[in-house]
Amino acid sequence: MTDRQQLIAGLIADVPDFPRPGVMFKDITPLLASPAGFEAAVTALVEAAPRDIDVVVGMEARGFIFAAPVALALGAGFVPVRKPGKLPGETISESFELEYGFETLTVHRDAIRPGARVLVIDDVLATGGTVGATAALLRQMGAELVHVAVLMELSFLEGRARLAELGVDNVTAVL
Ligand code: AMP
Repeated sequence: MTDRQQLIAGLIADVPDFPRPGVMFKDITPLLASPAGFEAAVTALVEAAPRDIDVVVGMEARGFIFAAPVALALGAGFVPVRKPGKLPGETISESFELEYGFETLTVHRDAIRPGARVLVIDDVLATGGTVGATAALLRQMGAELVHVAVLMELSFLEGRARLAELGVDNVTAVL
């Protein structure tokens, strides 16, 4: 691990059995509360980004926190992917299976022009369902998903393999 990775990892707390029994929740609030830690996390995500990104997409809610400063650093726009019922304009949506039930993500239909080069940012890659649904939204819009960067990957959940099956194999995890 680099010094920067150690700084970031030391500021992410493991919370057992949250939000339900059996889940080890990765709490990023100590990282966000640390100016040096937050800066290190954003810088690491920016360094993972390919060149010439037009749009950075972040998913509600913790993806927003990292995607917005990365967009500013790259000189790109920021587009939020949200839970249903939050966006006022015409939206497109994608549903995916969670451990219990289904989740739906939405985005404004005209938020990203066809052919735009998109970077997707989230805090945690777990099963890959969230990133997979976001990739499907980008496909609907004709945008080009150039790269996915996450702060942390829970590799035992094999999200990377699930994403590869969906044709998404350009994924970087800081931790
Ligand atoms: P998934 O769709 O399974 O890849 O889950 C990723 C999304 O759920 C991310 O937006 C994370 O914020 C959240 N998430 C999933 N598992 C965890 C975890 N163990 N700790 C913190 N956040 C998680």
